[in-house]
Amino acid sequence: MWIKGNLHCHSNNSSDGEVSVAELCQWYRAHKYGLLAITDHNSITDLTGIAGPGQLALVPRSVEIGEQTENILAIGVADMPPRGQTNQATIDEIRNRGGMAILAHPNWRWNHWTAKDLVTLQGYVGIEVLNTHMRECEGHESAFHIFDEVLCRGKRILAFGNDDAHNTHDAEIIGQVWNMIESEGPAYEDLRAAIESGQFYVSTGGRITAATMRGGRFSVKCPLESRIVFIVNGERVLCKTGKDAQYELRQGELYIRAEIESPEGKAYTQAAFPED
Ligand SMILES: [Zn+2]
Repeated sequence: MWIKGNLHCHSNNSSDGEVSVAELCQWYRAHKYGLLAITDHNSITDLTGIAGPGQLALVPRSVEIGEQTENILAIGVADMPPRGQTNQATIDEIRNRGGMAILAHPNWRWNHWTAKDLVTLQGYVGIEVLNTHMRECEGHESAFHIFDEVLCRGKRILAFGNDDAHNTHDAEIIGQVWNMIESEGPAYEDLRAAIESGQFYVSTGGRITAATMRGGRFSVKCPLESRIVFIVNGERVLCKTGKDAQYELRQGELYIRAEIESPEGKAYTQAAFPED
């Protein structure tokens, strides 16, 4: 099953958050989300044992770590990692607590995370390639150029799209980007396993039914006629309009990913590698 998920938003337990946990959960459920992580600043909002409305699975404990330092999302941690550590130590502490570390909004103030940081750091699962909260901040919501640069250097990381909402009324931000997860079931544990194995894509409304790599051949299928663009080693190599497209990787081509644009919006696959 396909489930829509957001892994970064703030309740009024954050000093800059404006709405309650219950209001956030209601908003996301009303907009057909099936997974939500509430990542308040430097303090865990504990959702253990709280049932989301309808089919909304809640990540029990998550937090966004970082004050003057870079921001790291700790998704599904057992407890609060110590503050004031180096970025690498913070990532290690998140992993030790069973969490996934995601590096937030690389393009906040244009250089929140650099490609060099991302190549050097170990143990995080991926980065936010899109974060719509950045529409209100200095910087840019997109970090695809950094994503490509890191992949070009041979490092495999996942692409996430989160809205980082701080309220439910700013329609430019909330619900403007999400992750579409192909999961065995609707429970948090199923969704977490699917995310960790990269079975999801980032969407602003566009849909992808399959993105598969077999024997060096990458295929993408969409339910609606779409503009499908393939990116290899950071360069656009093919652009096609239709419901499906394929590309065969050649010698020296490290990875491929696709961006699609349909009447519903855009969508972005994970990177695929010839050995997959
Ligand atoms: Zn945030």
